[in-house]
Amino acid sequence: MKQTGDLNLVKKINKSIVLDRIRHDSPVSRARLAELTGLTKATVSSLVGELIESGLVDEIGAGESSGGRKPVMLLFNGTAGYAVGIDLGVDYILGVLTDLNGVIVEQHTMKHSNASVDAVIGDVIHSIRELIGRAPQSTYGIVGIGIGIPGISDEQGNVLFAPNLGWENVPLQQRIESELGIPVVIDNEANAGAVGEQQFDAGVGQNASYLVYVSIGSGIGTGIIIRGELFRGSSGFSGELGHVTIEQNGKPCRCGSSGCWELYASESALLEKARAVLPEDDVDIEALLRRAGDGDKRVIELFEQLGRSLGVGLVNIINAFNPELIVIGGRLAEAESWMLGPLTEVMERRSMPFPRAKLRVQFSGLGMKSTVLGACSLAIAKFFASTKVSVEG
Ligand SMILES: [Zn+2]
Repeated sequence: MKQTGDLNLVKKINKSIVLDRIRHDSPVSRARLAELTGLTKATVSSLVGELIESGLVDEIGAGESSGGRKPVMLLFNGTAGYAVGIDLGVDYILGVLTDLNGVIVEQHTMKHSNASVDAVIGDVIHSIRELIGRAPQSTYGIVGIGIGIPGISDEQGNVLFAPNLGWENVPLQQRIESELGIPVVIDNEANAGAVGEQQFDAGVGQNASYLVYVSIGSGIGTGIIIRGELFRGSSGFSGELGHVTIEQNGKPCRCGSSGCWELYASESALLEKARAVLPEDDVDIEALLRRAGDGDKRVIELFEQLGRSLGVGLVNIINAFNPELIVIGGRLAEAESWMLGPLTEVMERRSMPFPRAKLRVQFSGLGMKSTVLGACSLAIAKFFASTKVSVEG
């Protein structure tokens, strides 16, 4: 290798380290950056100069100082670009446009009828175009698109298997990239949700190192964070805890097994029970939440049952992972007031005391937005990973 090449690479890596610190610690002074990164003040100053020129960093007024001249503070310029996050549900598409700090600027929601793979991809592209059309002018424009899917995908962004959507081997990333010409990252919706809860101010998992995010939708997915990082397993398919068996001779599941947790504790499970108990034929989640809120005892009892079934699966998670935090997300998080009591009772009765000693169980702080925000975060992370080699000075 040529020495100049090495030096260029070192400079790029250092610049990306400096940018990373400014993103996470801003407002921050050049002197403090030198302390944090271990780089010399001269190196930091030169790299910061280039970052200011690139539009990613701004200087702002004086910071606090213990006497003497007040240092100029550096701020990450979150509006230098924007990202699109999509939560692809089995019957809805929730999309947001965020700036590079993950602040939501625009939102777009639509229902889809899952008529065909092509129809759903068309709807996803429509949502993305809608959001891109509303993006403010910026230096970098749309830096990337993140999509959370209710299934498993590979590193090339192929949806390998999404049972509740009925998809197998759909090259989602490639199809959207070729249509829009913007980098796309695909991940499981619960993985994205875990990242969302961990990385955003309103998330309840901020900075948690051992977190399991349980996403309740028509199925159950989980995103597992270990030592601050998403745990993906040996080939990227971990987190399918919705398919942990809780009834050996239980109902058959679309995954091929039977008695899976999600058959007893998901939205679908709730709706199935509700249809058996309530005479109305147009029962949906919103209606059930409304009726429980109005004090309908039959509906409240359904939520309590669901809380107990949810608790059984949580016991397995607690005993297996000893997390510090379990976050319950998805639309059913709105049923916290009826589910939390029964869930906690089952959890405390059945899980082992040591693994749960320091555990907190909380309902999502981001509501339905954990996945879209996490998806944006993954897209933004991919953009910054690529700037290691593309932000030229
Ligand atoms: Zn299953």
